[in-house]
Amino acid sequence: MASSLLPTYARYDLAFERGDGAWLTATTGERYLDFGGGIAVSSLGYSHPHLVAALVEQGGKLWHTSNLFQIPQAERLAARLTAASFADYVFFTNSGAEAIEGAIKTARKYQSACGHPEKFKIVTFAGAFHGRTLATIAAAGNAKYLEGFGPRMEGFDNVPFGDLDAVKAAIGPQAGAIMIEPIQGEGGIRVAAPKFLRSLRELCDEHGLLLIFDEVQTGVGRVGKLFAYELSGAVPDIMAIAKGIGGGFPLGAFLARREAAKGMTLGTHGTTYGGNPLATSIGGAVLDVVLAEGFLDHVVSMGLKLKQGLERLKDSYPNVIAGVRGEGLMLGVEARGPVADFAAAARAERLIIIPASDNVARLLPPLIVNDDDVAEGLERLEAACRRIGRGDLEATALSRSGAAG
Ligand SMILES: *Cc1c(COP(=O)(O)O)cnc(C)c1O
Repeated sequence: MASSLLPTYARYDLAFERGDGAWLTATTGERYLDFGGGIAVSSLGYSHPHLVAALVEQGGKLWHTSNLFQIPQAERLAARLTAASFADYVFFTNSGAEAIEGAIKTARKYQSACGHPEKFKIVTFAGAFHGRTLATIAAAGNAKYLEGFGPRMEGFDNVPFGDLDAVKAAIGPQAGAIMIEPIQGEGGIRVAAPKFLRSLRELCDEHGLLLIFDEVQTGVGRVGKLFAYELSGAVPDIMAIAKGIGGGFPLGAFLARREAAKGMTLGTHGTTYGGNPLATSIGGAVLDVVLAEGFLDHVVSMGLKLKQGLERLKDSYPNVIAGVRGEGLMLGVEARGPVADFAAAARAERLIIIPASDNVARLLPPLIVNDDDVAEGLERLEAACRRIGRGDLEATALSRSGAAG
């Protein structure tokens, strides 16, 4: 059937009509175990009673008022996010790309406010993904996403991921910040070494640069800490979050230390929808669950269990799986064959996983997965490995390359 949706996605021939916990029910009635979480978004799975209650309660009262007025729900959520992080300020957005845009603007404005408007350049990393706006595609530097969209926005020096010498070489008189995902998501679950991140922090301190972490995918419990920066001991000055904080409702934010935000004064930035009462009520409900006693321990323990199971699968099917990596419930399986075939074989077993770059399939299950879900997911993945081993890829009829970004 001809679609009226702009054809920028190669969609699977599969639609869902409801969800419950980590499970999705397709329009055909088949049940799928979801280890994709709508790309790390559905952090509490589907139909979580606390989220549904927050949606219904606030939805019945007031959705939107604009940022011309006080928004108590946004005040509360911002206060909780700053109390639980390095930051002093929060600005709410509707998406990850907008959060990154705000982070970039904050860094540039900081340097300008310090009397250095010439320090507008930001060092970024190959394999990064920061969104699809003109600034964020320029920042990530992926040629595929830049092609045909006119002159690449100035101000980003893209260097190899993990290469400290290249970072040092890129820090010239115009450098104002360094921006990195502590674990690259779309890039293929590439984990930055904690030592590398700490070295970036030192470089920033030495040269008067701001350190920006893109935690749009890693943030809000995904890696077993509230934020991934806690794993490395390298604390950023500015951080972008989105995906997990809304649990499926569009919500993002950038957070900053007071000093780093010093250029962002009255009238310097704005948004119509960002942080509206409905979005921030739901974000608050997500935090209620993620910050509850024991929840992050649960993520750590489910993540370990899943990762150990994946390592066993790699040992049993070395011709199918080349490697396993990641932290918490942000895991990657490097496939030997095309990753699209691997994901298609999993789908044929009614398990959703998400292809990324580097021939890696991402496992980003809802953080509420339990022991049974993890065991079931591993069984289905093993069946997918057997299917590939047999060369049984009728499933690839469903397969499309479809990089998710
Ligand atoms: C998804 C993602 C973005 C972009 O978020 P959108 O909501 O799609 O704009 C930015 N950075 C990272 C690390 C992401 O994973």
